[in-house]
Amino acid sequence: MVKPFQPQLVYFEPQALEYPLGATLKEKFEKQDVEIRYTTSHNQVRNLPGENDFQKYRVAKSTLVVGLRKTLKFDTSKPSAEYAIPLATGCMGHCHYCYLQTTMGSKPYIRTYVNTEEIFESAIQYMEERAPEETRFEASCTSDIVGIDHLTHTLKRAIEFFGESDYGKLRFVTKFNHVDHLLDAKHNGKTRFRFSINADYVIKYFEPGTSRLVERIEAAGKVARAGYPLGFIVAPIYLHEGWKDGYYQMFERLDAELPQDAKKDITFEFIQHRFTKPAKRVIQKNYPMTKLELDEEKRRYKWGKYGIGKYIYQKEEEEQIKSHLYSYMKKFFPDARLEYFT
Ligand code: SF4
Repeated sequence: MVKPFQPQLVYFEPQALEYPLGATLKEKFEKQDVEIRYTTSHNQVRNLPGENDFQKYRVAKSTLVVGLRKTLKFDTSKPSAEYAIPLATGCMGHCHYCYLQTTMGSKPYIRTYVNTEEIFESAIQYMEERAPEETRFEASCTSDIVGIDHLTHTLKRAIEFFGESDYGKLRFVTKFNHVDHLLDAKHNGKTRFRFSINADYVIKYFEPGTSRLVERIEAAGKVARAGYPLGFIVAPIYLHEGWKDGYYQMFERLDAELPQDAKKDITFEFIQHRFTKPAKRVIQKNYPMTKLELDEEKRRYKWGKYGIGKYIYQKEEEEQIKSHLYSYMKKFFPDARLEYFT
């Protein structure tokens, strides 16, 4: 069982202390056995302890930087939402295939932003531009936001902020089960709470530092009983010995846990395992012992944006994955909506 995240090292940007959340976090960490440092900007966080990149990477994953979000322009987040709402970046998990390894490069530490009101102000402007059409915001593009929220409650505030909005919707996804503080948030049905789930084997070998399947399923049950619309991202779907049983059991256990009511409004997203050449290089550097299969010869090449193509499963394997997972979903959740398979 993975414990709620507790940083070993915390940096504060001085301006962050002018905000209530910054001051609260400082007080909190001062009372605990946590090393505190100050930095003018997160870009100056360079001298992390550790003798080599491998060690520094691990230290960074347990380092929290408390700062301000300076850019209040949001990135787009198609197709699942209109915008990415920036609440935090980075994650303490150690999933071998995590996309953050390539997107965050040399800055894998976790950052939380304390100027939430300014971020929400910006969200209001984006909503006003599109009103009366609704605007969806994705909160987990650059982090596993649930995994750090027990410390900051920023996500909880965002849930309640969108709960009160007329045209805003919030969504995020997590591999963590630390959801208790979010259960009484006044979400008003405006937040879709998604869990990333997978066959036991995949979680066991490739997702160290995250909650186990049974814990995520249990958390999903709590979230459903708290009335949130639910969603599941099955990703990455990975072919391994016994994969059909593994994924079947995953759906079966989910079905056993969720209340009947919740099953009427569930979404699924299916994403097959893929990798790019640059991602393969960082994975092998950060997780040299991984047994993740990354053999280009066994895969099919799909051209991608900016000339960086990805390696996905062969057509026949892809069809197998699609038909099996779809049939399991239909068997256990006939009313569920498959948002996409990719
Ligand atoms: Fe990356 Fe998500 Fe795993 Fe965190 S939980 S390491 S964000 S894949």
